Amino acid sequence: MQRKTHGPNNPMPKEWLAKDLSLQYIADYKAFNFVDGEGVRCSLYVSGCPFHCPGCYNVAAQNFHYGKPYTQELEDQIMEDLSQDYVQGLTLLGGEPFLNTQVCIRICKRIRQEFGHTKDIWSWTGYNWDELLKDSDDKLEMLSLIDILVDGRFLEEKKDLTLQFRGSSNQRIIDVPKSLAADKVIIWDKLVR
Ligand code: SF4
Repeated sequence: MQRKTHGPNNPMPKEWLAKDLSLQYIADYKAFNFVDGEGVRCSLYVSGCPFHCPGCYNVAAQNFHYGKPYTQELEDQIMEDLSQDYVQGLTLLGGEPFLNTQVCIRICKRIRQEFGHTKDIWSWTGYNWDELLKDSDDKLEMLSLIDILVDGRFLEEKKDLTLQFRGSSNQRIIDVPKSLAADKVIIWDKLVR
């Protein structure tokens, strides 16, 4: 059940599941960009996001049917792009990566297998940290595979275009391994604003 007011949708824990919603579609893939996190990055935009934040930066990608299916060919291309020395890592965004865990866990695991921790993994999500910790096992598994999480819905009333890598001031840039180890949110230590 969705309790829609004037802002984004707010799911109950485990209400939205990738196994029910994801078609494993990709809205876009952008190699070698400078805007989706630290350093030169490759960005995978998954399709489908039921948060439906007013003012969303990527409305087309809210639709789980948008784009095209994720393929082995695309995955191989991403791995080849990531192998360049000047590429720092992969960014997952969308759409909602945590409702496309089939794709995201698969690529994260392959990165860890082939690159270890020499490439980092960032992910955006509309969930906030506490919500993710109470949600499904696949979301927790994905969390365990990533380095940096930018959490929370986009809230128009908190919009601030001066923030690093976020659109509204409720969103946080979270160091995931440190936060899981400390059992509390630890903010990225390179945060400027
Ligand atoms: S969580 Fe992000 S992708 Fe989803 S509707 Fe909100 S702004 Fe758009």
